[in-house]
Amino acid sequence: MADTHVRTRIAPSPTGVPHIGNTRTALFDYLLAKKYGGEFILRIEDTDQDRLVPKAVEKIYQIHDFLGLKRDEDPVVGGPYGPYVQTERLEIYQKYALELVNMGAAYYCFCSEERLAKLHENDQYAKYDRHCRNLSPDEVKAKLDSGAPYVIRVKLPETGFTTWHDLVQGKLSLPNAECDDKVLLKTNGIPTYHLAVVVDDHLMKISHVLRGVEWLMSTPVHLFLFESFGWEPPILAHVPLLLGPDKSKLSKRHGAKSVLEYAADGYLPEAINNFLFYLGFSYKDNSELLTLDQMIEIFDEKRIQRQNAIFDIQKLNYLNSQWIKKLDSEDLFNRLKTFIPQEWQGEKAKAISIIDIAKERMFTLKDFVPSAEYFFSTPEVDKQLVLEQSTHTEEETKKWFAIATSLIENTKDFTPENLHEEFTIAQKDSGLSPREAFMSLRVAISGRTATPPLFDCFVILGKEESLKRLNSVFV
Ligand code: GLU
Repeated sequence: MADTHVRTRIAPSPTGVPHIGNTRTALFDYLLAKKYGGEFILRIEDTDQDRLVPKAVEKIYQIHDFLGLKRDEDPVVGGPYGPYVQTERLEIYQKYALELVNMGAAYYCFCSEERLAKLHENDQYAKYDRHCRNLSPDEVKAKLDSGAPYVIRVKLPETGFTTWHDLVQGKLSLPNAECDDKVLLKTNGIPTYHLAVVVDDHLMKISHVLRGVEWLMSTPVHLFLFESFGWEPPILAHVPLLLGPDKSKLSKRHGAKSVLEYAADGYLPEAINNFLFYLGFSYKDNSELLTLDQMIEIFDEKRIQRQNAIFDIQKLNYLNSQWIKKLDSEDLFNRLKTFIPQEWQGEKAKAISIIDIAKERMFTLKDFVPSAEYFFSTPEVDKQLVLEQSTHTEEETKKWFAIATSLIENTKDFTPENLHEEFTIAQKDSGLSPREAFMSLRVAISGRTATPPLFDCFVILGKEESLKRLNSVFV
């Protein structure tokens, strides 16, 4: 890599919001560029104007911003090779399309929609039958002069193989006969992906193209265009597919949502980056928490895995829970802002002390509210549920509650550690098992059987509120 200045690009088509798998490619692009001190570029490939999805472009920015994949060049920040939106570059592609025709690497095609539809009548994937490939120059001129609508198609070699070394897949060789004379420029003067991607990757000095294996069959067309123009092609890396746990192509059904949906579900950018990193790259036992900077250090484009990666939501949950534990509680409080009720925002100190203990049990940020709400409002407590926690009679449980309230009232040191000590001694004297003793108190103050450690809960609630809740069970 010594003499290559690394420039990578992610080139989404705003025909939808990229799902989490597409974002993995963006992460790898970013890591590769940063590893070698190069640039990471975002280009919007909006040539398929009929399928544009409103707001998709904004969402693409939001995804990268959320994950911290800072762009060096893009449509907003600009850069030396702009514009970075393909529909703002139409004249460039038109010029190159004509060049290809003039050099015999592309040809005018005047076939009508009806004729093409007929070709696809029995097979939607049928290749173009090359009907216009051999029109004489006079025929072409006459049609152009008459104003007949046309597209420009690539004139691929009909025999032989296109061979290249793929950074991920190794040596690849595809028979040209299997490729199609793809349209390069449409009737409306807008290029297709195949022309625009080649022209832009060249003009934007892209050194490495990372993209999903689903683009493999298009690569011979692209390489043919590079060769025809006399341009050096970028290094190609076709990244494996993401599969669902049932080994079929990842779909919505498996959780193939966009990163923004995961963000709204309470996943942290750190965990998502980590998760995506391990979907195609192996490091130690694939469970270490890594920051982007550490990933840049570790990443090696030659070690991207060739086998398809399995998308396992449990793994994401695990990494998210680990990142939640690792983050500072004040930082978590800021990230929880959109997840917690307005009233809690004003009680920052209290919220942070709850986060301190709740974060041990959270898988996503959404888990915070259910595990914290009984600190902010008095829960409905079912006396029956309290009694069910013990095999002892109501009278005996009532007695235990009297001991508990007097301990809280009289303790000089209202800390979780000291309460733990004093309550353990009292529980042993009471004849109740630890589970019976502490579970009944837990239900009494929270209405629930699962909470953070009981004595932390007492301290967060404060003496007065703890007593109020204990005393209200047996009224
Ligand atoms: N516009 C293509 C896409 O939507 C880009 C493919 C490539 O990276 O060449 O994924």
